[in-house]
Amino acid sequence: MRKAVIIGAGLTGLTTAWNLKKLGWEVLILEKNNRTGGAIHTHREEGFTFESGPNTGVISHPEVAELFEELYPEITVEPANEEAKRRLIWKNGRWHDLPAGMKDGITTPLFSWKDKLRLLAEPFRKPGNDPDETLDHLVMRRMGKSFLEYAVDPFILGIYAGNPSMLVTRYALPKLYNLEQKYGSFIKGSIKKQLELKREKKENPELYHYHKKATREMFSMSGGLDKLISALTNKFSADEIQLECQNTRVCPVNGRYVVRYHQLGEAKTIESDAVITTTGAHEVPSILPFLRDDEKQKINNLIYARVVQVAVGYNEWRGIPLKAFGGLVPSKEKRDILGVLFLSAFLKDRAPEKGALLSVFLGGVLKPDMIERSDDDIRKIVLSELKKMMMVPDCEPDLLRIFRHHHAIPQYSKETGERLDIVNTIQQQFPGLLIGGNLRDGIGMADRIRQGVTMANQLNELFSKNQ
Ligand SMILES: Cc1cc2nc3c(=O)[nH]c(=O)nc-3n(C[C@H](O)[C@H](O)[C@H](O)COP(=O)(O)OP(=O)(O)OC[C@H]3O[C@@H](n4cnc5c(N)ncnc54)[C@H](O)[C@@H]3O)c2cc1C
Repeated sequence: MRKAVIIGAGLTGLTTAWNLKKLGWEVLILEKNNRTGGAIHTHREEGFTFESGPNTGVISHPEVAELFEELYPEITVEPANEEAKRRLIWKNGRWHDLPAGMKDGITTPLFSWKDKLRLLAEPFRKPGNDPDETLDHLVMRRMGKSFLEYAVDPFILGIYAGNPSMLVTRYALPKLYNLEQKYGSFIKGSIKKQLELKREKKENPELYHYHKKATREMFSMSGGLDKLISALTNKFSADEIQLECQNTRVCPVNGRYVVRYHQLGEAKTIESDAVITTTGAHEVPSILPFLRDDEKQKINNLIYARVVQVAVGYNEWRGIPLKAFGGLVPSKEKRDILGVLFLSAFLKDRAPEKGALLSVFLGGVLKPDMIERSDDDIRKIVLSELKKMMMVPDCEPDLLRIFRHHHAIPQYSKETGERLDIVNTIQQQFPGLLIGGNLRDGIGMADRIRQGVTMANQLNELFSKNQ
């Protein structure tokens, strides 16, 4: 039996280990914390169920749907209800609906008339030829300033807590990049993709049904996202997951790996055929001390947005109607929050019946110092913004919890290519070592699941070939 050590018991580590276990591998997961789940963490207090990390994901890859099918009935996927289709954007002192179709797109005050007209010519504009073009340039080129400021900027704040001028499109939004590169235009590309799917349905129904598993539907889990983590954790015996592992160090020895770590003061050593790291980039240099300094530097050359998430709960809601997914605040509007999710509007049982649960985001790449502010400051900022933006009367919320994430979301900027190259080179030089996690392959939960499945298959193929 081949043995793999997986470092990190977040969604990536658990998915990787589970898929390797199904392929017949002996697995050992080493986690530095005293719980599994990593960024995913559900809290239950005073009638509210809230998350300190991700709130919802998107079923954007078939691997996600397959994992959920496999974990049923231990988990019940909770799709967001119809309200979640409505997204709000803050402009000039009030919320506006983000247009969902052509008609709304024409009438919305979010975009200028000039840019609305310019959009008609989008299919005829030449594709770009700079593979490292940043997102702001791409959008300015194809769509115009008001689309950048009032659609893409808030969207990027919502997903990356980032800045479109820092993110390289082909790494940060590869699907969008490919639309332009493959089809020459976003509009033409979206239409042609639909036609391709129709053709695939006729010519290769099996592949079509596989692709269709990626419904793009938004999900949480009934009762909170930690249900997904418990279901995955339950796939392993107590021996297979080691918690509170400190100073984990990997050393390649004669084509195998020696892994040393300390657990509750006790030094431990194990040998394995393969090692997979699934931690943030900043942890990799200490886990793989045998790498050269320039290699460590290229892996670690990754900025993470620092994010403050504040869960705010009211037993009785007296603000504006919460009939939407939430609202995003373009950076041009210069407010103190990045956005707010109306969680109890689209997920069940998150707040008492007449109440509301909101999640407010602050900080991000543009305001990295927000994380250093005191709890009292953050509380004041949040309550003052909710009063102005959500018309919440002057009353204390029934719940307010502050969560600080120093390494929340990696920013796939221009250094990404160099990082991916060095990861590939190291993996080729040390067969059986995979450097995974969110330093590559996407930042969302769906991306993490797909990476876990891919890495398990990749390792298994490598060892089957070498047998
Ligand atoms: C505030 C916030 C909001 C988010 N919102 C969304 C969202 O709405 N939708 C979405 O899809 N995604 C969202 N994400 C991203 C999503 O949470 C992540 O993509 C996913 O949970 C990351 O999983 P992971 O296993 O790759 O990493 P992590 O969850 O970070 O897990 C890594 C694990 O490795 C462990 N570890 C680190 N160093 C070591 C070491 N030296 N030795 C042993 N173990 C170690 C850590 O303790 C951790 O358990 C959000 C993230 C944050 C922080």
